[in-house]
Amino acid sequence: MLTLSEAASPAYWVALLPLTVLSVVSTSGAFRAMHTFVLHHASHEDFGRRSRLAGDVAGIIGMTQSYADYRRDHRVHHAALTSALDPDQQALAALGFLPGLPRAAYPALLRHTLIHPGPHLRTSAARLRANVSPRTRPLRSAVFLITHGLLLLAAVTGAHLSGQPGPLIAWITAWLIPLTVGHHISAVLYALGLHAWYRRSPAAGWAGFAERTGARFFADPCPARLPGGRPAALAWTRWWLRLILWHLCVARLLVIGPTDNGCHDAHHADPAGRRFDWCNAAYARPALLAQLPHTKVHFWHTWSLSGAIRRNFDQLADQDGIA
Ligand SMILES: [Zn+2]
Ligand SMILES: [Zn+2]
Repeated sequence: MLTLSEAASPAYWVALLPLTVLSVVSTSGAFRAMHTFVLHHASHEDFGRRSRLAGDVAGIIGMTQSYADYRRDHRVHHAALTSALDPDQQALAALGFLPGLPRAAYPALLRHTLIHPGPHLRTSAARLRANVSPRTRPLRSAVFLITHGLLLLAAVTGAHLSGQPGPLIAWITAWLIPLTVGHHISAVLYALGLHAWYRRSPAAGWAGFAERTGARFFADPCPARLPGGRPAALAWTRWWLRLILWHLCVARLLVIGPTDNGCHDAHHADPAGRRFDWCNAAYARPALLAQLPHTKVHFWHTWSLSGAIRRNFDQLADQDGIA
């Protein structure tokens, strides 16, 4: 147990760093899940009569769209997937992710989008305007300001009364950074691997549809059998580090979150959830493939978040640019 005097030492903050990073990552993923899971399934009315309420509350907590706005946009996403009308694709286009760029331009654009303050400020400002602006319903703005403002007020009051910055630092790391910086990073990494954007397939029906939608799974093959000793230890160390740090912490906790969006193709195949049990997506997708032979022929998947994004960059670079 650390004493109070130790708590102020550099060693204390160094010891706290891994836990702080894990907290920021998981809270960012939870904020994103308000949009990608709760609001998304509310828009499909998966919560029955409480869908509107669930969607609006999730949108306020995650500082994203209202139920009505998301539902309108998401219906277009399903009906006009990867077309110029698709609002999800328009959001990526606004960040500069357009087809027909040189292949090497996409990773550079991704780095810029994740690191440069400009895209962070623009996306956070747009999300704030969706909750507090003259166009927003007064009730929504009031609930948003109370929800988020009370936490800030509590942090400022705690810092003032204690004479220590601790409560304010806790608010910044536990709420502000996940809600803004973490949310933006998660949203960009999520969207880039979600669909084969701008793809207009000449194939009809499911063949064409499946070209634009795949599943994302998160793991590496086990290392090949090595004759023991150092090479085997290194291979397994790398495998475990990637599993924990990349596949679990980044892909699962930060980007996909506690959602069914690793199996997004199954959702598009059955948006109403008649056959696809979205609460148990990892098991329901193979079951859906078994029930719908036409999906089994065309469905595909990538292993790892980076694999899904690289695949998308390849197909974006192969396409003609937009005139
Ligand atoms: Zn989709
Ligand atoms: Zn949907």
